[in-house]
Amino acid sequence: MVKTVAVIGAGISGLAAVKSCLEEGLEPTCYEKRDDIGGVWRFTDNVEDGSPSIYKSLVSNSSKELMSLSDFPMPENFPNYLPNAKYLEYCKLYAENFQLMKHIKLKTTVCNVQRHSDFSLTGKWVVVTKNGEEKNTTVFDAVMICTGQYTQPVLPLDSFPGIKNFKGEILHSRDYKKPVGYDGKKVLIIGMGNSGVDISTDLCTKASQVYLSTRRGVCVFRRLGPDGLPVDLSFTTRFRSLVQKTVPTAVSRMMINQSMNEQFNHGLYNIQPECLLSKEPLINEELPSRILAGLIIMKPGVTRFTETSAHFSDGTSVDDLDVVILATGYHVKFPFLEESVINVDNNKGFLYKKIFPVNLQQPTIAFICFIQPIGPLMVIAELQCRWATRLFKGLLKLPSTKEMKDHLDEDEMFRLHWFETAHQNWRRVDYVQYLDNLASDINVKPNILKLMLTDPVLGFKLLFGPNIAYQYRLSGPGKWAGARKTIMTQWDRMEKPLRTRGMKKSSPSPIAVFASLLPWFLCFVVLCAAILIKG
Ligand code: NAP
Repeated sequence: MVKTVAVIGAGISGLAAVKSCLEEGLEPTCYEKRDDIGGVWRFTDNVEDGSPSIYKSLVSNSSKELMSLSDFPMPENFPNYLPNAKYLEYCKLYAENFQLMKHIKLKTTVCNVQRHSDFSLTGKWVVVTKNGEEKNTTVFDAVMICTGQYTQPVLPLDSFPGIKNFKGEILHSRDYKKPVGYDGKKVLIIGMGNSGVDISTDLCTKASQVYLSTRRGVCVFRRLGPDGLPVDLSFTTRFRSLVQKTVPTAVSRMMINQSMNEQFNHGLYNIQPECLLSKEPLINEELPSRILAGLIIMKPGVTRFTETSAHFSDGTSVDDLDVVILATGYHVKFPFLEESVINVDNNKGFLYKKIFPVNLQQPTIAFICFIQPIGPLMVIAELQCRWATRLFKGLLKLPSTKEMKDHLDEDEMFRLHWFETAHQNWRRVDYVQYLDNLASDINVKPNILKLMLTDPVLGFKLLFGPNIAYQYRLSGPGKWAGARKTIMTQWDRMEKPLRTRGMKKSSPSPIAVFASLLPWFLCFVVLCAAILIKG
């Protein structure tokens, strides 16, 4: 029977893992190599080897109500989008509220995790840790890996002939901290993910010129949605997800394309994505205005470098470059873990429900938050932790290995269909669908139809409102008495940080909410009518 659990990493996923273990009566020991909790949300001036590293200006790209964990809403006065220091504060409040610190060993690096010699019988793991000069070996009943996805930079130097001769400075986006030291310099940023675009907008008023190179373009959204509300309040809803699943894919893509181009025409700005959703969309409001002002110049993929210049696939080049920033993302690697446990297939991944390795016989390890949703990671991480601890306790049964492998095949087909490629994107999921699926496995998914009849206001909020985590505490194991009230008061917490002039309280504009949902609603009605007529 599982009792002791090693949790590796004390970012928000690690904290949720410790809390979930305690909820299930397990005994967690969490190891964190740095001297404080918070993981990727903890800004430091220096880059620490093997740890995540962010820039000073990083602001969350999900809003606070969507980023709150299921039984711990963010303080009312927190802003709607969180600068990294604010989310770190939330992590600390969370740890303090649930008294998690006594289970966390700081400055302790996990060097090695191996299956125990009698693993096939007991499922136990041998964990070797290091604190200063002191090494320890401990046997655990289960392991939760919460080390995050952003520690091992992708440095694709082989993709750029001549880069070794380049005389200027070359760095990865994880080494970028502040726009200091770039005055008057010509900077090329390679890669149009969130990091590349954030850094280009951060730098462009200091540098003499910023060039942003993208091979595939990308879909860019703003944080500001209808009525100035955080965009994810209307975008990440169960209703929208339901419509997307029901209407033909072409219609759904057309609608996403339309929302994407509402703020600016991606084609006109030369960043139209090759395939609409094949890449994670990004959130940035400054990019279009910086391109309009000429502070950022878009370029296609780089073909080669010389000592001082970069050449691009359209035949153009930029001379006298001073700095190249590779905003080329991260590898997912587990350097401390026995290799045979990880058998990543680039198309399928290796994790059943993105948590449990399909080839393993004993259900005593969980990979938490190795996932790419279009939505906040931490909410998924928390539900994965609740799922995993139920699994450890034997309260959730895994299907056979064959069924788990079939599940990976189905998932691959889904990604191929929806994201138009399955290659290298095994971590991607549909946010609402994935959460509901895990919730359903552990009996915490709200029954919307029933709620529509018994508690219609709540039911309505859960169907048409943002997909917030508190709903997974309304019923079932881990039920929280405060869940309903917290759902009903989300508007107050959203509005509070905006009411800093003490003006009269406003209320949500039903017209704005309705307007944002109208196209989806019409599609849904047309589709239902078509099905009825046909049937
Ligand atoms: P990323 O999303 O993986 O993007 C890396 C980009 O680098 C790719 O999209 C690609 O861009 C380019 N690239 C990759 N390999 C390349 C190669 N061999 N040659 C040339 N270009 C290559 O990485 P990221 O931007 O660092 O983001 C990592 C994660 O952190 C994401 O999930 C992101 O959402 C998150 N993040 C969040 C925030 C925030 O919350 N504010 C900020 C930063 C990052 P092209 O297709 O354009 O060439």
